[in-house]
Amino acid sequence: MTTQQEQGATDRTTGPRPEELGRRPFVLDVDGTLILADSERWNEPQPLPGAIALLATLRARAHPFLLLTNGTARPPEEYAERLRSVGLDVQSGELLTPAVVAAELLASEYPGEPVFVLGDEGTRRPLAARGVPLLARDDAEHARVVLVGWAPALTYEDLAAAARAIWRGAEFWTAVTARALAARGGRAPAMGGALMAAVAHVTNTQPRLIGKPATEALAVAARRLGVAPQELVMIGDDLEIDVSMARRVGCTAVLVRTGTDRDAPTGAADFIFNGLADLLAALDQR
Ligand SMILES: [Mg+2]
Repeated sequence: MTTQQEQGATDRTTGPRPEELGRRPFVLDVDGTLILADSERWNEPQPLPGAIALLATLRARAHPFLLLTNGTARPPEEYAERLRSVGLDVQSGELLTPAVVAAELLASEYPGEPVFVLGDEGTRRPLAARGVPLLARDDAEHARVVLVGWAPALTYEDLAAAARAIWRGAEFWTAVTARALAARGGRAPAMGGALMAAVAHVTNTQPRLIGKPATEALAVAARRLGVAPQELVMIGDDLEIDVSMARRVGCTAVLVRTGTDRDAPTGAADFIFNGLADLLAALDQR
């Protein structure tokens, strides 16, 4: 186990203590933290060492947790089914995607207002489930928000309709800006960001990021867990996505060295573990 306290600017007396890990709700990243998969589709997810045991332990101890992924290739219920198929005990309501976060934000900021989605069921279904009116391409100009997700069936006409809607005043939201995700063999392309970039270029407009590292994503998770965002423990493999989000929210940041940032230096997060098995061991030692 390599538990490392952040040093330097953080006052040790106000920083996180190991025993807090066992008391605070967990928000777990998925790719590079719980699994390594082939792509955003999770066609063949492989649990990382300790992942199945950690979730089983959290469940047995009634320790609150949620999963927070940046994937929109599938609706949450399908992602959860993929994870259960390889032994990870996750129910659909326990997995948040940027589309789930977007649905929450739309319900509070623009209730009842129409949205044009560049994306497929993974983006559309969580919005529809929340009652968000979704526009067909021919009506895209009436959109209050254009939301870009994972969209393999995208056409030139879809991109043009999104650009026209933004020209007419729609807000521009994107699920992700990341260029890659941790996957078997190293990394997989995160093409949602490329679609976002196409629309951003044409409209000369920068989108509002909805997925990680947007702090709203963690705020939605905190609300679901019934705590303040600062009370969470964010566990992920990516310094720029998971840890930076936790830092800006002010919650405990745990890095696992099983995905993107395997060579993270001491002090890069509040706690650094070589993998979830070591995190589980730390919980058991408290
Ligand atoms: Mg990850």
